[in-house]
Amino acid sequence: MSIFLDERLSSLKAYVPGEQPKPGEFIKLNTNEFPYPPAPDVAQAAFDAVGGMHLYCDMNCTCLKAEFEKVFGYGGNNVLFTNGSDEALYLCFLAFCGKNRGAAFADITYGFYSVYADLCGLEKKIIPLDNDFSVVPSDYYGCDKTIFIANPNAPTGKKLSVEEVEGIVKNNNGIVVIDEAYADFSGSTCALLTEKYKNLVVVGTFSKSRGMAGARLGYVIADCLLIEDLNKVVFSINPYNVNSLTQSVGTAVLKNNDYYAECVDEICKTRDDFTNRIISLGFEAIPSYTNFVFAKHPEYSGEYIASKLRENGVLIRHFSNARINDYVRISIGTPEQMDSVVSALKKIIGGLK
Ligand code: PMP
Repeated sequence: MSIFLDERLSSLKAYVPGEQPKPGEFIKLNTNEFPYPPAPDVAQAAFDAVGGMHLYCDMNCTCLKAEFEKVFGYGGNNVLFTNGSDEALYLCFLAFCGKNRGAAFADITYGFYSVYADLCGLEKKIIPLDNDFSVVPSDYYGCDKTIFIANPNAPTGKKLSVEEVEGIVKNNNGIVVIDEAYADFSGSTCALLTEKYKNLVVVGTFSKSRGMAGARLGYVIADCLLIEDLNKVVFSINPYNVNSLTQSVGTAVLKNNDYYAECVDEICKTRDDFTNRIISLGFEAIPSYTNFVFAKHPEYSGEYIASKLRENGVLIRHFSNARINDYVRISIGTPEQMDSVVSALKKIIGGLK
């Protein structure tokens, strides 16, 4: 740290992303990425975009938005695209929290909410999940802060129903941000509620269910006035936030939506099968609505399991937070990758504690 860093930033704890090893070094199940190759036309779309990359990109993401509307049913002034959904979340912290308002979120949830709140110098209201890691909707009623809820939640994999989310939105005058990074694996979305509620922001990503984690594409669906607010912030930071290669690739991905939907179905089947297999190895696994499983073993610590899997060539995620220290989060890969994880776990669990 230099002597020049702003005092406010010197104490900031930055987000710690999952490790990104060299390709092929590990079976990589630590950051909930999509495990299948892109649809066949996607590589051509990236190649085609290279010819136009000497020009600044389309700030309105016109082609991408048109395809998005065909798939999601929302477009025009109700949608904003971002550089990954992390940027969308950050824009919400910048636009809707304010110094005196602050942000409210669960004690166990996506780690970036706390980092963004600190970065913006906001007051934080941390709302504990209940004993079984559920979000209790009424805990969020009448909240005096801007609410951020990952639904399904990470790293627990649990979800609220659309009705429960509607209860939270209805019982608040302030903004409620629903982070739907994993919603495609859950069978439900709250996007429809944005037509009814002007204080609801739905954030999503192409990283998990559409194979674009490295290309960085996120989106917001909300009432047009909220999108206008967020756009004002985008145009105050970087109007070219979604680059032309990503726009082109994202458009091709949406044109091949059926392929991605089939892959998501496959991932959900693999997830449910993997969950049952590790339960039969003695794990306690929370039924997951995402592309990862959150589980613990009564005899082996989370840290031990993660480090032993690493020795066996499998990278997963373990969090040091005291409440979830016993758990590991394992992303769902291909069936073959999950076979390897099960074999490694059998070996580990038969070994020393
Ligand atoms: N929300 C949640 C709950 C996540 O787990 C992630 C992925 N780390 C994100 C948002 C951000 O994803 P991205 O920026 O790749 O869209």
